[in-house]
Amino acid sequence: MGKPIEQIKNEALKALDAASDVEGIKALSSHYLGRKGLVTHFLRNISALPLEKRSAVGKKANEIKKELDKAFQAALIQLQTRVYPAGGRIDVSLPGRTATPGSLHPITQINEEICDIFTGLGFDIAEGPEVETDFYNFEALNIPKDHPARDMQDTFYVSDNIVLRTHTSPVQIRTMENQPPPVRVIVPGKVFRRDSDLTHTPMFHQVEGLLVDENVSFGDLKGTLTTFVHQMFDDRTSLRFRPSFFPFTEPSAEVDILCVMCRGKGCRVCSQTGWLEVLGSGMVHPALFEQVEYDPDRYTGFAFGMGVERIAMLKYGIDDIRKFFENDFRFLAQF
Ligand SMILES: [Zn+2]
Repeated sequence: MGKPIEQIKNEALKALDAASDVEGIKALSSHYLGRKGLVTHFLRNISALPLEKRSAVGKKANEIKKELDKAFQAALIQLQTRVYPAGGRIDVSLPGRTATPGSLHPITQINEEICDIFTGLGFDIAEGPEVETDFYNFEALNIPKDHPARDMQDTFYVSDNIVLRTHTSPVQIRTMENQPPPVRVIVPGKVFRRDSDLTHTPMFHQVEGLLVDENVSFGDLKGTLTTFVHQMFDDRTSLRFRPSFFPFTEPSAEVDILCVMCRGKGCRVCSQTGWLEVLGSGMVHPALFEQVEYDPDRYTGFAFGMGVERIAMLKYGIDDIRKFFENDFRFLAQF
């Protein structure tokens, strides 16, 4: 069985007393408590003792193990807090701490890239409140109180009439209220929905676009979005417009792009379809113009909206949206 456990303990404490630096204490801790340490070895061999002794010796050995562990920890803490004693000496030979250069968050980068592309096309940037009234978030956008479209957006209600905005679309109304046509704006910002899984987070970022003028056609919408997609991804990325429904546009279309991973062959990311949904869009519903007192017989317009995280995930090949918000340096340092 070797040395009695009491003797091991006394030798350990004596050695700890003599140890003067962190490395020394760590080495001692490993020598006694590590996987091949003396105390560990002792505990492992208890089964070799006569049955009637095992329980008492085992109990004692476990107590000593805890006691030693505590002593090593305490010594380490004491040593580490003693590096800069108040009014004492400073070790000028210690290596300095370098500051690591920071970088912009990937979402911020993609957001800026999207805004750059659209300002290059003549759009201004508009912003609006993140806490919205029911009126701007829903009613003014042609989504009345009992409209089933409200169920499409799991809303955070602050009170009956105040919500965390579920999209950036309220800024369409706010912008049109404040200026006569023509309007050319994009609206970047945070939006909120009660949703959380691999592709949804309760807060995410959207960029909304609105263009209103005389003689604006669906062709202008198509041309604008095609230019955007070609600049954001590359000009081999074709687009597909699919009929859809949004209460505030008529007609409405979902916009798919050719899968950036497989180029249309079909893969896991595009669920074997070869296409990826990236945008909602459509021609502004005349009901919105009436709301803001624009003449719907004179003016037409288009609007579109996209998720910034979605674009970033496709551009960088990221499969879990939550990675953007975990602040893991190993992830963030890649951008
Ligand atoms: Zn694919």
